[in-house]
Amino acid sequence: MVSAMTSRERVMAALAGSAVDRTPVCNPTSVATVELMDLVDAHFPDANRNPEKMARLAATSYTELGFDSVMPVFTIIQESSALGCEIQWEAKDNWPTVRMAKPIWKTADDVNMPSDFLTHPDITCVLDAIRLLRREFGDEVAIIGKTMGPWTLGYHVFGVEPFLLMSLDDPGHTKLCLERMKQITIAFGQAQIDAGADALTLPDHATGDLVSGEYYRDFLRDLHTELVDQIPIPLILHICGRTVDRMDYIAETGLAAFHYDSKNDPAESMEIVSDRIALIGNINNPETLFSRGPEEVATEVTRNLDAGVPLVGPECAIPLQTALENLKEIPLTVQRWHREHAGDRDADGTVTVGRVGPD
Ligand SMILES: [Zn+2]
Repeated sequence: MVSAMTSRERVMAALAGSAVDRTPVCNPTSVATVELMDLVDAHFPDANRNPEKMARLAATSYTELGFDSVMPVFTIIQESSALGCEIQWEAKDNWPTVRMAKPIWKTADDVNMPSDFLTHPDITCVLDAIRLLRREFGDEVAIIGKTMGPWTLGYHVFGVEPFLLMSLDDPGHTKLCLERMKQITIAFGQAQIDAGADALTLPDHATGDLVSGEYYRDFLRDLHTELVDQIPIPLILHICGRTVDRMDYIAETGLAAFHYDSKNDPAESMEIVSDRIALIGNINNPETLFSRGPEEVATEVTRNLDAGVPLVGPECAIPLQTALENLKEIPLTVQRWHREHAGDRDADGTVTVGRVGPD
């Protein structure tokens, strides 16, 4: 028997495509809920702006839910705030958003990382939270950071509509903007690595309902490949929506993992990516985790495990009112599934990541 892995070892092995003792449970976006905020007295919006509260709320995914990772960056707007976008910070039961009425940039000439970007309070909050988590948990649990991809930054700084229109009217200029914004993605990512992050989520919302698979290929595939070359820890790409039309391109980038949405069938998705990239996620948020019960959660988790998906968890940042019982069911089902499939193990006691059972 192989001795049990720590949560951190389990996550890092799965991201590397290596053998694990059981499938890790992870959410590379966010598992913050109002109930967890109440439990540790760390509420939005403070938990997005105060490093101590941010770390305390992030730790609950490991200490309360039994997940294998912690993720302190609950929002997608920390960088945008530091770049000068106006942020609506909202209250404890809502996510902060960028006020889109007044985009800060119009052309590639405007793209600029302010010299005090990395010392802006909404950036240092994340870096300090990662340091606090590393100090508290050592090597026990995987600490995942988050650096927004240039496509998502484009939505925030240019406005969604102007940015999408620019991509239609002037693809060359759009690529120049993306190329320049890429430096922001790298700078924040590297700062989080220096603070102690094990892996980074890269949300880059070239989502199924806004742009086509060809868009991903033309604007983002090579750019994401360059990010893999320049950021020395595993990157987990996050794109919402139906993405099977771009998964083949995503799998070509060398990214460690793709955090994928429940609109994609696990077996079909595994068929496309094969062992080129680890899939992670897929448990439906708005219907299953938010409004159904543990039984339905277990069914979806099992569907992913049966398909050989290497890391399991919610598909995206979970709704803030999600019941803890449903979230705790994810690791419980994973443990149950592995007990039931113990006979499928390799001789050394490990489960090989990938499809288990007859093909
Ligand atoms: Zn998402």
